[in-house]
This record gives sequence, C-alpha cells and structure tokens, in this order.
Amino acid sequence: CGIVGVTGNDNTVKIILNGLQKLEYRGYDSAGIFVNSKNGQDYLVKEKGRIKDLRKEVGPEVHGTAGIGHTRWATHGVVSVDNAHPQVSKDDRFYLVHNGVIENFQDLKSDFLSDVPFTSQTDTEVVVQLIDKFAVEDHLDAHDAFVKALGYLKGSSYGFLLMDREEPETLYVAKNKSPLLIGLADGYNVVCSDSLAMLNETHDFLELMDGEVVTVKPDEVIIENKDGEKVERKPFHVDMNA
Ligand code: GLU
Repeated sequence: CGIVGVTGNDNTVKIILNGLQKLEYRGYDSAGIFVNSKNGQDYLVKEKGRIKDLRKEVGPEVHGTAGIGHTRWATHGVVSVDNAHPQVSKDDRFYLVHNGVIENFQDLKSDFLSDVPFTSQTDTEVVVQLIDKFAVEDHLDAHDAFVKALGYLKGSSYGFLLMDREEPETLYVAKNKSPLLIGLADGYNVVCSDSLAMLNETHDFLELMDGEVVTVKPDEVIIENKDGEKVERKPFHVDMNA
C-alpha cells in the first residue's frame, strides 16, 4: 500500500517511520522496515496494526544508513507478521517491499520455486525468492537478477523497492501501474509512493515510468528504460509543506 526508502542518511530509521506515518491516511493493516548500515549490521522489524505499534518494536539498537519501509493492505494472505513486508529471500540476502498484485505468482511458484521453503502466503515472497534464485543459480548481481525476475511478471501491478545485503547502501526500484517517486535530498536520496511521505526531506522528485529500473545510491540515481538504456530526467518541484 505505502512504500518509503532512504539511502545515505544516519537518521534512516526516523525518516522511514515518519514517512510511513504520513502514508497512514491510505489505510493499512500491518507495517515493517528493514535497515542496513555500511558495516553490514541489519535489522528487520514488522508488526500488525498501527505505525505506533511498529515504533514500539523498533528499539534504540535499530539503526542504519539505508533502509526500506512498507504499510501493507493485504491482498494475498492473512494479516500477520510473517505476511507483512519486507519479504525476505530464503538465505536472508534480499529484502523486498511491494505495492500491488502479482497475477501469476502461483505459476511462478510451481515453475521455479517448488523446492523453496516459503515463510509467508504473499504473492510478494514469490518475487523475492525468484530474485534470489536467479542471483545464486545464474550468478547475477542484484540488478540483473531483479531485471530478470521483472521479465516474468507481465500483467501484474507493482511498486517494488529491493535491498541486497551485499550492497548495503543501494536501493533497486521498479514500478508498473503503481506510483513511485525518487526524492533528491541534500547528500542522500529517498524513495516514496507519495511525495507527501518525504516532504520533510526534499521537495525535488524524479517521476518514474512503467518498465524503468532505477538504482538509487546516496550520491547517484541511475534510471534505465526497459531496453537497459540510461535515461536522463529532470526533477520536478513540489510546492507544498508536509
Ligand atoms: N499483494 C501484496 C500482499 O498482499 C501487497 C499488498 C499491498 O499493496 O500492500 O502482501
């Protein structure tokens, strides 16, 4: 339902939780965050109910310089901590948040993932397990495994934000029929499904087109079209206060 991400800021946890709070008006049943720091320490926290319930689970030890957050409106699978996002690959390497619906997730599960132990009932977990499978078996990096997995999702709706523990400060982004924006802040970058979530951080946003794949680092945003060609885009300015 709602997506936020940050890379390159020591206050990542605070920015993500405040961003999720701004998206509460959209409605949701559970929420979660994953944060990572340059030294490889990472934290996954998920909870049913309100953002204030999630906040209680986020202890002072939870910190990082990059992370992702999600508010879930369940479409596949009951409301539970296991089904809340981020969804995680079986080797705890990839973390994915998702807005939307993967239409062919049952087929993907039986065609590619019959040997994988699933921990949730979500359509989303199929995608993160697929990314991991392609990374491990085809020796692809996160970007290429993500692109390969996206190729199998035709007809689905998604806003995706992906992290790979092996690249702690990189966020991978893609969307189809679901909104996602990149926010350009001072020395760091953010991602959000609605600019409202990040207006305390920046007023300058990059619009994304369906089919594009975006790599977001603290000091760099690379947009590629569906043919893998780099796209130059100017940010637009949002004249509104949070
Ligand atoms: N289909 C996903 C799920 O049920 C994502 C739902 C959403 O957009 O929040 O977990």
